[in-house]
Amino acid sequence: MQTNFTAEQLADSATRESNTILRTCVHCGFCTATCPTFQLLGDELDSPRGRIYLIKDMLESGRPATEEVVRHVDRCLSCLSCMTTCPSGVNYMHLVDHARHYIEQTYQRPFGERLLRRVLAMVLPKPGRFRLVLRGAALARPFTALLPAGTFRTRVRAMLKLAPKRLPAPDPMQDAQTHRAIGEKRGRVALLTGCAQQVLNPGINAATIRLLTRMGIEVVIPRGQGCCGALTHHMGQAGQAMDSARANLRAWSREMEKGGLDAVVINASGCGTTVKDYGFMFRDEKPKWKDKAEQVAALAMDITEVLARFNYAPTRPAPGLTVAYHSACSLQHGQKITALPKQLLARAGFTVKEPAEGHLCCGSAGTYNLMQPEIAGQLKERKLANLNRTGAQLVAAGNIGCLTQLGDGALPTAHTVELLDWMAGGPEPAAIAQARHAT
Ligand code: SF4
Ligand code: SF4
Repeated sequence: MQTNFTAEQLADSATRESNTILRTCVHCGFCTATCPTFQLLGDELDSPRGRIYLIKDMLESGRPATEEVVRHVDRCLSCLSCMTTCPSGVNYMHLVDHARHYIEQTYQRPFGERLLRRVLAMVLPKPGRFRLVLRGAALARPFTALLPAGTFRTRVRAMLKLAPKRLPAPDPMQDAQTHRAIGEKRGRVALLTGCAQQVLNPGINAATIRLLTRMGIEVVIPRGQGCCGALTHHMGQAGQAMDSARANLRAWSREMEKGGLDAVVINASGCGTTVKDYGFMFRDEKPKWKDKAEQVAALAMDITEVLARFNYAPTRPAPGLTVAYHSACSLQHGQKITALPKQLLARAGFTVKEPAEGHLCCGSAGTYNLMQPEIAGQLKERKLANLNRTGAQLVAAGNIGCLTQLGDGALPTAHTVELLDWMAGGPEPAAIAQARHAT
């Protein structure tokens, strides 16, 4: 694709990067076939190629983002399915991230929307605040009918629907500490305990810690780590995202200096994609930060990668259960991890099925299901129908967002690591009893 940026525009590193990305696009349109929003809406401007043109025009013009550009970029899930399909290697992720940041700086959203985005950015990355809000959500649920009809009510309802009816108690295993390896020590890792995940399902971190320590791996929960920055990064709030990432870099670097780390383990794939991209995020920072970011990005591993590296092996007999594996977009498109989770589940003794349209997003996509509830709802129904058609007894996935989105479907859901931990001697996840009860 030809671009027409001025030398002055190209002096800006983000624009320079976007220019390189735009020039790799040959407008073949292959990406449209696998884009969920194009599949649903059928509008070229809601396809990757259409958005690329819109972003190119917006950036080249140097003018503030228009309502039209914002509408179509906002509808993008950042599922990155287009990156898997693209034969030219267009880095749509970096391009749309730049577009979102540009929009945030040049476009004045309506008041209600600004408020909502501000609240989400303040609440979601902070587990304490998030817990309080979820408690409040349970009380607020009956009163949504009193809100005037419109986008705001639809969004509030979507949020309340996603809020769990009963919140699990906080698990002290997730607090800053070192969990010693059991038996001979084979490695030492830091575990990112995340933000929303540790509130919605602390059992995922607990399963990760139990399983790794039983495998002889010391698990450190570093003091000072927090949200990976993905939630605010995808809302275009680069400053807050960088602050979150910087806090993590400090925390993990301290641990590297203290006792060395074999990996920074991440069990929410949305976070994993972002941490693996820290090197790019910090490319223009001082060497002190740039080097740390590159070091951490190289150490970042999804839990399934760590389990494979340390030769996960089950200790229980095969459970005689069929699992439908839902491949989170951030895992399959963002990190290109596709076969590993299925192989580990099969090694653990499960029969593994894959749903049709496995490449399509379930509609969760960070805060997408809160900001775009109609499209997210349609994608969710489509995903649930495909999962049900597998004939499986439960669903496994490696990302808390997907598990929350699909959690009220006909099939019980569990994180992949909860199932692997159970088959290697851990406690039985709640989803197993539900699956057995239903069959
Ligand atoms: S598939 Fe790649 S090269 Fe083709 S239009 Fe889409 S982004 Fe551009
Ligand atoms: S990231 Fe997903 S929704 Fe956005 S353009 Fe690419 S395929 Fe479409």
